Amino acid sequence: MPDSPTLIQPAQSAGIAAALTAGLPHDLPAAITALKTQMNAVILAHYYQDGEIQDLADYVGDSLDLSRKAAATDADVIVFCGVRFMAEVAKILSPQRLVLLPDLRAGCSLESSCPPDQFRAFRAAHPDHIAVTYINCSAEVKAMSDVIVTSSNAVAIVNQLPADKPILFAPDRHLGSWVARQTGRQLTLWPGSCIVHLQFSERELVQLRVRHPGAEVLAHPECPEEILAYADFIGSTAQLLARVKASPADTIIIATESHILHQMRKAAPDKTLIGAPGVDGSCSCNNCPYMAMNTLEKLYRCMLSRSPRIELPEPLRLAAAKPLERMLAMSAAIDPTALSRKD
Ligand code: SF4
Repeated sequence: MPDSPTLIQPAQSAGIAAALTAGLPHDLPAAITALKTQMNAVILAHYYQDGEIQDLADYVGDSLDLSRKAAATDADVIVFCGVRFMAEVAKILSPQRLVLLPDLRAGCSLESSCPPDQFRAFRAAHPDHIAVTYINCSAEVKAMSDVIVTSSNAVAIVNQLPADKPILFAPDRHLGSWVARQTGRQLTLWPGSCIVHLQFSERELVQLRVRHPGAEVLAHPECPEEILAYADFIGSTAQLLARVKASPADTIIIATESHILHQMRKAAPDKTLIGAPGVDGSCSCNNCPYMAMNTLEKLYRCMLSRSPRIELPEPLRLAAAKPLERMLAMSAAIDPTALSRKD
């Protein structure tokens, strides 16, 4: 495998060291594209990445879509432009590939709200429950779960679970509440939340709707219920993107992380797209600080040095793979863009 450091020859190693300490290439996107070809790499980017990274990626998608791409790729190297748990999913599903993440510190408030020890105690306190866990969690928490879900497939998967079995849902309580309303199932919720989707202001949203009376409001189910109450349409990032294209409205207000607007503007250049405001009246607080840790410069350097790389102990990887593979099987027929729903 070309990912083994032992295969790097001394002269090659000296060349990499020199390149790492040298200034960055003048044309960074061209240098990244050239490295990608040399490494036989695929670049996967989440919709919440900076537009310049999205434009360089081979695939841009939401968690479900990118999980499928990671599982199916035949590239030697997966360069994951997203947060750490997403790159871990790529490694879990594609263990033979070298998986790189430009900045290992790119975490997630949902993941950090659910420490493995506390989740273990939560499970132990509810031994008869099925543990349905949102993909935004650590590999350790995945390994203790029965099935993983994303916001694209959570409703469809919960609908497939035996009606007489109680369900735990972690770690996002807002997504869990929405899934409970959609499915009519009672879920015992872990009290986690996304710091980005908590920022939207109900008061500012109401004022914005008054200023744009014909506008449609789209929201991600990680938003609190008081924001979802104003939404004409609720769905995952991929579903919201599909709705922007299909909506008859000329003006659309979007309540989710603001970098998705990059793809939405490409998909619907004639529509007026407005990020839902935070408490300060702007949407700048709705940028994910973890996603923002990845930059073009870090992407270039990580490809050049083939690090930081994602490594997981094999027993943990195998245990985490089971509920992820169950998710892929239970949602095999689901098009991530096709399940948009009105609450
Ligand atoms: S937007 Fe929220 S859920 Fe998504 S990675 Fe950032 S903190 Fe986590």
